[in-house]
Amino acid sequence: MTTPTPHSPDQPTARLFYEDDADPSHLSGTTVAIIGYGSQGHAHALNLKDSGIDVVVGLRPDSAGWQQAADAGLRVASVAEAAASARLISLLVPDTSQAAVFRDSIAPHLEPGDTLLFAHGFNVRYELLELPTDIDVVMVAPKSPGHRVRELYQQGAGAPALIAVEQDATGCAHATALAYAHGIGATRAGVLETTFAEETETDLFGEQAVLCGGVTGLVRSAFEVLVSAGYQPEVAYFECLHELKLIVDLMYRGGLGEMWHSVSDTAEHGGYEGGARLVDDETRRKMTEMLTDIRDGSYARRWIAEDDRGRPDFERRRAAEQQHPIEQVGARLRQRIAFLDGARPARPVTADV
Ligand code: NAD
Ligand code: MG
Repeated sequence: MTTPTPHSPDQPTARLFYEDDADPSHLSGTTVAIIGYGSQGHAHALNLKDSGIDVVVGLRPDSAGWQQAADAGLRVASVAEAAASARLISLLVPDTSQAAVFRDSIAPHLEPGDTLLFAHGFNVRYELLELPTDIDVVMVAPKSPGHRVRELYQQGAGAPALIAVEQDATGCAHATALAYAHGIGATRAGVLETTFAEETETDLFGEQAVLCGGVTGLVRSAFEVLVSAGYQPEVAYFECLHELKLIVDLMYRGGLGEMWHSVSDTAEHGGYEGGARLVDDETRRKMTEMLTDIRDGSYARRWIAEDDRGRPDFERRRAAEQQHPIEQVGARLRQRIAFLDGARPARPVTADV
């Protein structure tokens, strides 16, 4: 475990790449295999195809994605066939399936100079794959759910992405990754250089501390406190969940400052006071513990062991979450109230954040 050098927030350190920095010819004449046709897989496959790159989708023959990919005009093959026919293999199956898929269906077909590409560094960072040393290993990780990667591309824009090189056997690994980022539309927005370790550790920490763990914990607990105190669940739902989007949209557009500027002075005062009261040194100590678990691999070991057991704890938590009163109240309310943006997803959208 290496300790990163602290960066000063005042000094820009990030290297960014745009359209002109990429040379798409690094992928011309190359077949790209997209393994998996889920959230990221379908977006990468379709965007690359529309960018004029030869794409083959690799799937299990019984996979629901097979017909979808074929209907979208893509060539589909078994994972092994796709891997064998391609010089660049993009591994877009779930993180917990990557080790088995790689070992059984990809590794036997790798040739020196091939490129293995990831959209998240988990399996490489925690050394779950036996990577041959004569291939390039790179990452192009869109900072966006897959459906948005596709949508933005079709609008002529792109989703930003992170790029990293773990192994550079050919001397062209970075250029290849950048050409791929160009093909999926990411260089239209901006591509930020990172490492597999930085991407994996910050991604896991962000989703645990803030995006998926911290935020849902706050929303759920605040809802419970209001309802137990006798307030209407529908009102509690609006306050603690619905309005979160309005606040986050402001932060997304202009940082914390834009949000503080838009809310009332009372909300700003209460926000400073409440935030400091709730998130204190004890919370920061727990955040540091989370980060330690992530960096020393104990979090990854817990998740992999849970997955190996058939995910009993995960499924129990998922069921409990679905049965929480905030979900029941929300479902009823969303049927009865027209939301401003008309957004009522027909089914949950997967979003790795
Ligand atoms: P997903 O669950 O949406 O899709 C997985 C696909 O893989 C499906 O088509 C499934 O049929 C297929 N698959 C599953 N097991 C397989 C097997 N054993 N053999 C062959 N195919 C199999 O996955 P996803 O969310 O797109 O994640 C793919 C990668 O992208 C992961 O590394 C993830 O961390 C990363 N990522 C995802 C997002 C996101 O928005 N979902 C964002 C950034 C990065
Ligand atoms: Mg993420």
